[in-house]
Amino acid sequence: MTRLVLTNARLLDGDSAPRDGVTIVVDGDRFASVASGPHVGARPDDQVHDLGGRTVMPGMVHGHYHATYTRFSAAEKLPVGMEAPPAVQTLRAANHLKQALYTGFTGVVSAGAPYAIDVACKQAIESGTIEGPRVVAGSRDVSTTGHSQDGFEWHWGVGMTAQTNIADGVDAFRKAVREELKRGAEMIKIFATPGHGVVGTYPDLEMSEEELKAAIDTAHSRGARIRAHIANKKGLLDCVRLGIDIVDHGDGLDQECIDRMLEKDVFLVPSIRYPYEACKIWSGSLIDEMRRGMDAMIEILPVANKAGLKITLGDDYGAQPLDHGTYGEELEFYVKVAGIPPLDVIRWATKFGGEMVAGEALGTIAAGKLADFIVVDGDPVANIGLLGDASNFLAIAKGGTLYASRLDTLAPAAAAPEPERKLAFAS
Ligand SMILES: [Zn+2]
Repeated sequence: MTRLVLTNARLLDGDSAPRDGVTIVVDGDRFASVASGPHVGARPDDQVHDLGGRTVMPGMVHGHYHATYTRFSAAEKLPVGMEAPPAVQTLRAANHLKQALYTGFTGVVSAGAPYAIDVACKQAIESGTIEGPRVVAGSRDVSTTGHSQDGFEWHWGVGMTAQTNIADGVDAFRKAVREELKRGAEMIKIFATPGHGVVGTYPDLEMSEEELKAAIDTAHSRGARIRAHIANKKGLLDCVRLGIDIVDHGDGLDQECIDRMLEKDVFLVPSIRYPYEACKIWSGSLIDEMRRGMDAMIEILPVANKAGLKITLGDDYGAQPLDHGTYGEELEFYVKVAGIPPLDVIRWATKFGGEMVAGEALGTIAAGKLADFIVVDGDPVANIGLLGDASNFLAIAKGGTLYASRLDTLAPAAAAPEPERKLAFAS
């Protein structure tokens, strides 16, 4: 099989500082070798590209993805997931997923979708029907009657909305989680608290502790993971203590929360680009609350980052005013607004994001790992803004398959040695 060989690369492996003069060999869907110096052990059919010092880094991961959100606005008060017929939403999701791949995001972890659309899109991507990143398929939002995601006027008679699976009581929570798993969800999403842009009646947990525990234990007992919309300290500590895998938003985060999350190896998706953009154009009490949460998160994030918390990128793209396709701008956002060093934000996007998608198999560039990577024309550590514009990418690869590759436009690499020829004698 033809191997892809990238020589003279600046390697940004997703964890450590860049290293120049590296040769990377991709065989099938994995990195076969990653080593300093020239290409050794060349084979005649190797496809070799001399990168001339350009950067190779892991594909990025979006850790809070809503494939179906389409210029969705909380102000319109439409039941989430009922803005368009399911087939239309599926086609939109397919478009967004393709955008993710072509903007360098080779993995997305869903934070919820209606009609098992994530599952359908994942199947379509894996069968080659559509192009898209690796998808960790999400569920409907599981929560209780009258909670923040069930906040539509009762006289509309809407009942359970497309994106919400309402449950009351321990047995109902178990059943709701099992229903989502039956539909193919790999990541259960629950709304544990209101806040972070979500109106709610109940200040702390929106379910009993027993219901929360039932949801978490049921997901885990069937090998799935579970994430929660959390926007206060008590809710965060309760969820972490009971075994939540991912904290979404995490407003109220403080040192105690960071310590507990580190002990339990829990991911944080702070997702403050959405409030940052929303606060620029809207006002009101909901926005004021979101701004307070965001300001506090901006203060604590460098502390959480230094402490080694596993933080990832990802936000509510598709909710106004955040548009799909601008995911890569989030790296520069965290550098400029929260003062996170560029290399650390890159680690959030790659090493930690990859781990959220596929554990140890993904997220860094090393022999044996899955070959998801991007070739960047420039140095993202020196100029993090490069990652917000896909025109700076010379190639994007998922599992060794190249997308939007312009590698052939680079100066030709030194020719591989001629294959041995057997002499043929005319008789
Ligand atoms: Zn969300």
